[in-house]
Amino acid sequence: MRIERDMLDEIVAHAHEEAPDECCGMIGARDGRAVSLYRARNAEASPLRYVVHPQDQFRIMEEMDERGEELGAIYHSHTGSAAYPSQTDINLAEGWPDPLYVICSVADPHSPELRAFAIRDGAVEEAALDVE
Ligand SMILES: [Zn+2]
Repeated sequence: MRIERDMLDEIVAHAHEEAPDECCGMIGARDGRAVSLYRARNAEASPLRYVVHPQDQFRIMEEMDERGEELGAIYHSHTGSAAYPSQTDINLAEGWPDPLYVICSVADPHSPELRAFAIRDGAVEEAALDVE
């Protein structure tokens, strides 16, 4: 997925704001390019897991639809571990195999780490983030 540096910076900012809880949100895309960032509430409000709040999910999916975007990625933060999907993340992705999963680790607040993954059938595969 192609993505602008500014959008990655926004994800890092969101991660810092919600820490120590995990933040989450969705990224609208067109033709493999990230075009909109949507913040969502973490319904779990937890430092260990995230669930995109169902109301936010509904609202964001509608907005994306109106704008002709597809769900390119779901992002969330890790505040105490590396930017790699946890078993919880892998389980959560089971019902939603199409989007990429962007994870922003702010475990070291001075050196945030951003990586993207495809998670399908329990298998994790790193995906490229082409920063524009
Ligand atoms: Zn996670």
